Amino acid sequence: MTNYMAWDIKSLLAGLTKGDFTAVELTQNALDNAEADKSKSLNAYSYVASDSALENAKQSDARRNSAGKSGDVGVLEGIPLAHKDLFAIRDMPTQAGSNILQGFRPPYTATVIEKLQQAGSITIGKLNQDEFAMGSANKNSCYGSVINPWQANGKNIAKDTPLIPGGSSGGTAASVAARLIPAATGTDTGGSIRQPAALTGTVGMKPTYGRCSRYGMVAFASSLDQASILGRSTWDVGLLLQIMCGHDARDMTSSRQDVPDFTALMGQSVKGMKIGVAQEYFPDNLDASIKENCLEAQDILRSAGAEIVPISLKMTEYALPAYYVIAPAEASANLARYDGVRYGHRTGQAVDSLDDMYQKTRGEGFGKEVKRRILIGTYVLSAGYYDAYFLQAQKVRRLIMDDFKQAFQQCDVIFAPTTPKAAEPIDTFGLDPVQAYLSDIFTVPASMAGLPALSLPSGLNQDALPLGVQLIGQAFDEPRLLQIASAFEAETKFNASPENWV
Ligand code: GLN
Repeated sequence: MTNYMAWDIKSLLAGLTKGDFTAVELTQNALDNAEADKSKSLNAYSYVASDSALENAKQSDARRNSAGKSGDVGVLEGIPLAHKDLFAIRDMPTQAGSNILQGFRPPYTATVIEKLQQAGSITIGKLNQDEFAMGSANKNSCYGSVINPWQANGKNIAKDTPLIPGGSSGGTAASVAARLIPAATGTDTGGSIRQPAALTGTVGMKPTYGRCSRYGMVAFASSLDQASILGRSTWDVGLLLQIMCGHDARDMTSSRQDVPDFTALMGQSVKGMKIGVAQEYFPDNLDASIKENCLEAQDILRSAGAEIVPISLKMTEYALPAYYVIAPAEASANLARYDGVRYGHRTGQAVDSLDDMYQKTRGEGFGKEVKRRILIGTYVLSAGYYDAYFLQAQKVRRLIMDDFKQAFQQCDVIFAPTTPKAAEPIDTFGLDPVQAYLSDIFTVPASMAGLPALSLPSGLNQDALPLGVQLIGQAFDEPRLLQIASAFEAETKFNASPENWV
C-alpha cells in the first residue's frame, strides 16, 4: 500500500483536489503509521488521537464534497499533521514531556494549532519532546528517548547503534523523517527545530520572534520561544508557517506586522543576492565533514547565482554563554507555576507543610535537566548575582543583535552550519551537560537576535547520516529567506531518506 505520508504537502493537496484519495484515507494512513511507530519504537508519538482525527477527516471530506467544483476549502483541507506535546490542544494530554503535567488536558487550544486546524488540517496526535523543550537530543523526556530513524552505515558508528534525532523537537523530526507524517509543528528557543532538522535530513524553520502567538504554548524562555515547522520541503514549511503567523491579542509579544505570502518569492532567481559568511561560524576545530559540506553548499549557492560575501559576527562566541544565563533565568520564573495546586502532578507522599508539598511535588515532577536549569536560573537572578550574570547577559544579547544588524548591511541572508556534528549515539551523547549545550553553538545566536532561520538538508556524511546547513534572515523577511532556501533546495535535490519505517 502506498504510504502517502512520504509525499510532500503540495502533492497531497493536489491529490486531494483531484479526488485521488480522501482525507479519511490519508488520516487512516497517518494513524497506521503512528501505530507502526509504537511497534518499531521510534517513540516519536506521545499521544495518538485516533477517534477525533477520523471524525475530523470525515468532516473535511464532507466540506470538500459540498464545495464541489468551486474548490473553496481550507488551504490545508484534509492534510494530516502532528504537533509537539508542548502545544496545548483542547482535551488532549499536554505535558510538554514532563511528569509534572501528568493528567493535564487543557480546556483550550494554542493559537498556532487552532490556525492550522481552521485551515482544514487534521490533528493526528502529539509528539515526544525534551521536557519543557530543554535539550538537544530528546533524551530528557518523561516518555523516554526518541530514536532517529536514520542509521549509520558502519563506517565510524556501528550499524545498529540508536542515534539521537536532535532536540528538543525530537518527536517532530523523527516522525517527519520516518515518513510517519508529512510535516509537524515544533518550537525553537535556541535551535530546537533547526538542530533536529539537520540531524534527520528535513527542513526546519523558525520565524522572526513575535510572528507566532505563544498563547497555548507551554513556556520555556518567553523572550526566545517561537512556534516552528519541520517538513519535507521549503514550500511546505513556508506555507504552514505563514498560516501559523499573525497578531494575537492573547499574546502581547505577538507582532502586529502584516504577514506577507511567505512562498511568494520562491522559485524566483537569486542572481546577485548576497549571502554573508562569517568566519566566526567556522572555528578551527570544526568537524571536517561539516566544514567540507558547508563549502560545497556555498558552491551550490554560487551556482544558483548568489554571491558569497565575507562578513564578521564578532559576538558569536558570547551567544551560547549568554543564552545559558537568559534561558534558564526565564525558565526558572516560568516553571514556578508548577506547584502541585494548579496543574498536573501532586505528590502522594505525606506532607507536613505547604512548602513540603511544593518540594516533594516539584522534586518528583521535574527531571534532572529541568532542575539544573531552575537552579542556574534562580542563581543568576538572585540579588547578589543579578548584575554579574543576568544583566550582563542581557547586554551581550543587545550586542549580538547589533552585530547582526550591521552584518545585514552587507548581505541579504547569512549562511552557517546548523550543528557542529551529525547525529550521535544516544548512549554517549550529552553525558556532560556542557557538552550537550555546546551542540547549540550555531543555532543560539539567531534566537538571541530574534531572527528567522532555517536548516536545510545538504548531504550525507561518511556514515551516510544527514547533514544540514543554516540560513539566517533579516527580521520579518521570511519571504526572501525562503527564496534563497528554495533555490538551494532546487539545486541540491536532496532526496535521501532513512530505510522504510512504515
Ligand atoms: N538545546 C537548547 C536548550 O536546551 C535549545 C532548546 C530549544 O530551542 N527549545 O536550551
